[in-house]
Amino acid sequence: MEIAKDIHSIKLFRNRAFLITGKELTLIDAGFPLQSRKIITFIRNIGRKPEALSLIILTHHHIDHRGSVRAIKKLTGAKVAAHVNDIPFIEGQKHAHDGHRLWWVRLLLFILELIFKHEKVHVDIKLKDRENIGDLTVIHSPGHTEGSISLFLMNKKILFCGDTVPYTLGKLKSLIPYTKNHNQERESIRKLSKMDCDILLPNDCRMVLKDGKSLLQEFCKDTINT
Ligand SMILES: [Zn+2]
Repeated sequence: MEIAKDIHSIKLFRNRAFLITGKELTLIDAGFPLQSRKIITFIRNIGRKPEALSLIILTHHHIDHRGSVRAIKKLTGAKVAAHVNDIPFIEGQKHAHDGHRLWWVRLLLFILELIFKHEKVHVDIKLKDRENIGDLTVIHSPGHTEGSISLFLMNKKILFCGDTVPYTLGKLKSLIPYTKNHNQERESIRKLSKMDCDILLPNDCRMVLKDGKSLLQEFCKDTINT
């Protein structure tokens, strides 16, 4: 689905990835493991070659966002970028379950990591807050994970927000259990509410195709101070 000119949403198992098309292609997140075929087929179906994919940016280290990166990198030669704080989790020096506040999330993340232990991948580009990568600006928005990022595409007023903004069914839902630090996440949403965004694109929840900024500001007013 083309959301705006050159911005595509790719429906995957339980979430989505985004593809920005230009002379080269940029992928934002890559779904669970075993999703690479779907992503490559999507690229072919819009008339592009998989080798045109030069960059994969990960919004954070969770397996449902980085699961197919290793396979796609192998197929296309794309470089992988992520925030410095999440790189040890993506490369396997740290574990997703380390220090999580809920025991059942720790257990689930432990099991997922065990099942998908071969999906670790080397990160080529280390990202930091407010850094530009192509036309995108990196906004460090920690809380969901230490190195969660959102990506702002200023010329189209689009904010790719990973799992930082839990918006679904017409409203922001209660903060999700996989989030490591809810207070920090609220602060991050406050930071994002200052961006001049119109379109808000989370990976797991419903997409907001207009007035994204108002929605974030409403959330800050209603929830953040409670
Ligand atoms: Zn997540």
